[in-house]
Amino acid sequence: MSDATLKLFNSLSRSLEPFDPVHAGEARVYTCGPTVYNYPHIGNMRAYVFADILGRTLSWKGYKLTHVINITDVGHLTDDADEGEDKMEKMAAERAQSIWDIAKHYTQAYWDDIKSLNIREPAHWSIATDYIEEMLDFAKSIAEKHCYECETGLYFDTTSIEDYGRLARAVTEDGAEENRGRIDTVEGKRNAADFAIWRKTPAGEKRQMEWDSPWGKGAPGWHLECSVMGEKLLGFPFDIHTGGIDHREIHHPNEIAQNQAFCGCGGLREATNSGARMWMHNNFLVERSGKMSKSAGEFLRLQLLVDKGYHPLAYRMMCLQAHYRSELEFSWEGLTAALTRLKRVVMQVERWKAKQQERHGPDWHTDSWEYNPKTRDPVERFAAAISDDLNTAEALTAFDEVLALKKIDPDCVLSAVSHIDNVLGLNLDNLTRTDLRIRPKGAQLTEAEVEDAIARRKSARAEKDFATSDAIRDDLANKGVELMDGDPLGWEWKLD
Ligand code: AMP
Ligand code: ZN
Repeated sequence: MSDATLKLFNSLSRSLEPFDPVHAGEARVYTCGPTVYNYPHIGNMRAYVFADILGRTLSWKGYKLTHVINITDVGHLTDDADEGEDKMEKMAAERAQSIWDIAKHYTQAYWDDIKSLNIREPAHWSIATDYIEEMLDFAKSIAEKHCYECETGLYFDTTSIEDYGRLARAVTEDGAEENRGRIDTVEGKRNAADFAIWRKTPAGEKRQMEWDSPWGKGAPGWHLECSVMGEKLLGFPFDIHTGGIDHREIHHPNEIAQNQAFCGCGGLREATNSGARMWMHNNFLVERSGKMSKSAGEFLRLQLLVDKGYHPLAYRMMCLQAHYRSELEFSWEGLTAALTRLKRVVMQVERWKAKQQERHGPDWHTDSWEYNPKTRDPVERFAAAISDDLNTAEALTAFDEVLALKKIDPDCVLSAVSHIDNVLGLNLDNLTRTDLRIRPKGAQLTEAEVEDAIARRKSARAEKDFATSDAIRDDLANKGVELMDGDPLGWEWKLD
């Protein structure tokens, strides 16, 4: 472990700050989870890879981590600023299915992606509809001082607390701050930025998900959920709240406003008044055509990548190659490059494992990297990079140095690899070259058939029978398999 101080970028202060836990030796982190009305797209999953790297880093630094990720199964409207329909209701109506079935199906799909990306399970997956009573209690406690009722629901008066929207402030080039304006179309709202705490079921209608409340039958607002689950499971103030960068504009400012109201706190110069010490946001994964969206019909799912022959961890590697605060553009070429890098790493690790077996037999294990200056230096560089606001791109470079070491006991290298992979989460203790060779859905040949053809081609070449050798190569090419003579990775063939 390294002593480098962990510095993280706090969106609330817009600056790097040392991590200074609220409870000594602990780290309590809340991550806004998915709205389970559809499959997550790979952009959404970037948010959880980021939260996972953060959690792993905190654990690696020796903090006892309590991580919460929520599952939103009610309340998230098609527009974050209280416009439109409930995403869950809309999908259920389109599919003629119950909301509960929709939620169950897509929650499982999300968990499958979490597992495929080797994202660690949080201490709690908090499901919004399990916290309705707590949401009502929270809402009741702030209603009188901070809310007002109108026909469509109970609204939070954003002028009732100090510094509303500080998190979302845009800093102009000359350094002046401005609050982003928003459009007000809900009738009866006093201020454009006011938002629903409770949405009433319109008279004469029945919703699939509705509960009794002092303001009539209805459902909670999306922002309320996260305030309540954060407070219940982690207590205010907790250490770090995370989400995608879009949440910095509406969802998190609204959560913060509720938290201030609930705690009876003052302004946000004191960060803990926001309910958390730090607010961290990952930037977007974008497509060349613009922002990725799962509401727009066609979208990129992790399963699509697998169907095309990419191991899910190649996507994780792609995320790690960029800083979480930089926009990352998705392209198949970029993903291919990330897969190649992962293959290279796995092959290097396999080589070290083979050397270790040669030397010590199969069951040998030691934690020896710390005692060797050759491994200590690059591991320190790795630690410094990751401590510098989770600079995974630079950390990977330091990791490459570990793998490329020469004239050193393989134990030292492999224990350094395990140590580092606790943060990177590339599953390098288990991942093999074979795992990375995923057959795309459309592949015509099995792996064994390809290997067999390659063996036949090799013997033809050994006998200088180039006609047969070329015929085999052409036949493979027709079936979508490209042979890579002299491939430096030693992969030998790939599927187009
Ligand atoms: P949602 O299910 O829409 O609530 O989004 C789940 C998480 O993904 C949130 O933290 C979003 O901010 C984040 N997110 C949405 N789109 C992207 C994207 N293209 N790239 C990275 N994160 C995203
Ligand atoms: Zn949230």
